[in-house]
Amino acid sequence: MPLFHAIKKRYHVITRPNPADEIFVFQKSDIYLLDGKYLPQWNQVKHYFNNSATYYCFAETEKHRYVIVEIDLALKHDNYLAINLKSASSILDETLFALAKYANHLHHWRRTHTYCGNCGNKNAEKTDEQAFVCLHCHNYPPLQALHEN
Ligand SMILES: [Zn+2]
Repeated sequence: MPLFHAIKKRYHVITRPNPADEIFVFQKSDIYLLDGKYLPQWNQVKHYFNNSATYYCFAETEKHRYVIVEIDLALKHDNYLAINLKSASSILDETLFALAKYANHLHHWRRTHTYCGNCGNKNAEKTDEQAFVCLHCHNYPPLQALHEN
């Protein structure tokens, strides 16, 4: 898949996405798609998010960044719908579906590793890889490999 060769991995929290960034939002094992069909770009969905969202860039190409929007509350909107991620395999193209599965895995990992599993302090972001690090006890939880299923 040519697109994959163009993707550079970048792991960092960003202030705001750019208009053409591809936006991934998850609610457990659901992914939000515009009209239940399309992975949106930021300019199509930015008005659905409030100031409490965190934007996590996990990949980028020359044209787009791929951004997970981390939100506390489920979105409720007629056009932006939560679809079971497995069902999305027949909706999204192969590359986007692979990215969506990867993003969902990262999203789950980040949600369950906010706090240090060793001392309980809040973990800090590492910017050079997908990881957190505890600045208090230097615990460094590894990301488990993504298993195909
Ligand atoms: Zn710790």
